[in-house]
Amino acid sequence: MEKLIPSFSIDHTRIVPGIFESRVDTLGNETATTFDIRMKLPNQEPAVAPAAMHTLEHLVATYLRNHEYWKDQLLYWGPMGCLTGFYMIVKGRPKASELLPILLDAFRYVSAYQGDVPGATPQNCGNYLMHDLPMARWEAARYVEYLTHADPAKIFTYPKAEALTLDDGAVFFDS
Ligand SMILES: [Zn+2]
Repeated sequence: MEKLIPSFSIDHTRIVPGIFESRVDTLGNETATTFDIRMKLPNQEPAVAPAAMHTLEHLVATYLRNHEYWKDQLLYWGPMGCLTGFYMIVKGRPKASELLPILLDAFRYVSAYQGDVPGATPQNCGNYLMHDLPMARWEAARYVEYLTHADPAKIFTYPKAEALTLDDGAVFFDS
């Protein structure tokens, strides 16, 4: 069994928040690209709290699924298990930098959101009481602030893991 799958072969000690292509899949004639929408420095600052992450998931998904262009491009939006960001899978192979405007719009939407969280009902959600809109707004505003002022040379390209070996602390599955 392959223990070090591709997404774990990136050196997580050197990741900064940003928007990164993490894999490209071909299905017949079609291409799907997975992006890591990283919000937090892995292992160096608190991850997003589960309830805030859940609310961010609902609200960003709602925004993207209603967007005139991106609703047809988006295949998947969902949280990383480590709670430091989201996976965004889209059709084709856009550049990471091309996702910046729509993500800024989506996170700005969350940062100003008021009212009921869409889909937070027992009919539509598997854990509808686990939401935290105030913290989701705070996290969204913080991410917008970060993306707006970050160095474009760092937020779209993952650091190369050329020297990475299992001895360097790479994450791998237990069999
Ligand atoms: Zn839910």
